[in-house]
Amino acid sequence: MGDRHHVDPGELTAVGAHRHTILSGISPGEPTSSSLLEARGLVLAEDVTAPGDIPPFANSAMDGFAVVADAVGEGSRLRVAGEIAAGAADLPSPRGDEAIRIMTGAPIPAGATAVVPVELVREQGGEIVLDIDPAEGENLREAGESVRAGEAILASGTLLGPSEIGLLAAMGIPRVHVHPKVRVATLATGDELVEPGKPLAPGQIHESNSYGLAAQVAEAGAVAYRQPTAPDDRQALRRAFSSALSTADILVTSGGVSAGTYDLSKQVMAEMGNVVFSKVAMQPGMPQAFGTIDGVVVFGLPGNPVSAAVSFEIFVRPAIRRMQGRADLNRPRLRATLGADIRSPEHKVSFLRVTLAREDDGWVARTTGAQGSGILKSMVLADGLAEVPVERTSMSAGEQVTVHLLSDPT
Ligand code: AMP
Ligand code: MG
Repeated sequence: MGDRHHVDPGELTAVGAHRHTILSGISPGEPTSSSLLEARGLVLAEDVTAPGDIPPFANSAMDGFAVVADAVGEGSRLRVAGEIAAGAADLPSPRGDEAIRIMTGAPIPAGATAVVPVELVREQGGEIVLDIDPAEGENLREAGESVRAGEAILASGTLLGPSEIGLLAAMGIPRVHVHPKVRVATLATGDELVEPGKPLAPGQIHESNSYGLAAQVAEAGAVAYRQPTAPDDRQALRRAFSSALSTADILVTSGGVSAGTYDLSKQVMAEMGNVVFSKVAMQPGMPQAFGTIDGVVVFGLPGNPVSAAVSFEIFVRPAIRRMQGRADLNRPRLRATLGADIRSPEHKVSFLRVTLAREDDGWVARTTGAQGSGILKSMVLADGLAEVPVERTSMSAGEQVTVHLLSDPT
């Protein structure tokens, strides 16, 4: 996997420096009010404190009989003096020789200090006989035992998943302030590109980046707007970019940022806004355009499908997460042992597509076959991207590498 092209190390931007430039220009979206279901997967933009106790009143943890614990014991015969269902407001109190039939979640009446489960009594006519000696507090849920009124319950910055949404509902809170969904347009450029489903004329290939990138966007929890492909033509590119910018917080394009005669994307972007072109010291993914046009964050990624996908992982996903208000910008990483020797170009970090296998001494990373930047199959098979440090041009089996996982833990 040697690098046949000459690169002048002086014109390369370090991966970390490029990431820093990107992230320092992005801040979380302006908080907005959201219904609970729409807030799922978004980040909370306020501290939430409990408006009341949960549960709001002492209630029964079982279907059974509410009794006065210190007035009864095993073998006690008690008259069933009433019934309390969940939701009832009329609460008959038991005397020492009485029991009140009570359902799970029903309020505990004044005077009752324990609930005896229905399975632990024998019912005889209008009476019950206890099979146990109930202890005070048994099978009762105290008011506020899960959440106290005024307790800080969810901090600003929390990613709202099913449990958080459920807890908010349990607290009676119907809406919360969140950072809004990030909208990302994906747009492929290139004269040779044809929609999937249409036949190929000589020299043409099927367009795949806008689909793959849109899927990466969706997987990152943002909304993807896939745009029609634009040809390598200044006017067409300008029109396509303008139209995409109107619906997006972030525009991700592919193609047209290299050194070819028809690599016009980077020129048109630079004319339209504050977009800078960089050669980033990485493989795949060296040519990168980044900046803003009309307040929209713009990424011009290289066209090779693996370059586009890897660039998304390393640069675009963290940017989306920052805009989402997330504090954790990276996917999990782990250290793994190389299962075979590898090579890496001079002056560049390599992101090798690897599988991970759990072996006796820990994780072992092995490349997923040919690593050419056009070979998308190498991504399909991969569990992660092994990062070969910039100063290394080869590494041997047995050496340790950092692997960026390509999925989040579930
Ligand atoms: P470019 O970055 O425009 O020079 O393109 C580099 C390589 O990636 C060329 O072989 C292109 O044909 C290919 N390519 C560019 N865009 C796409 C795309 N959207 N889908 C598939 N291949 C692409
Ligand atoms: Mg092109």
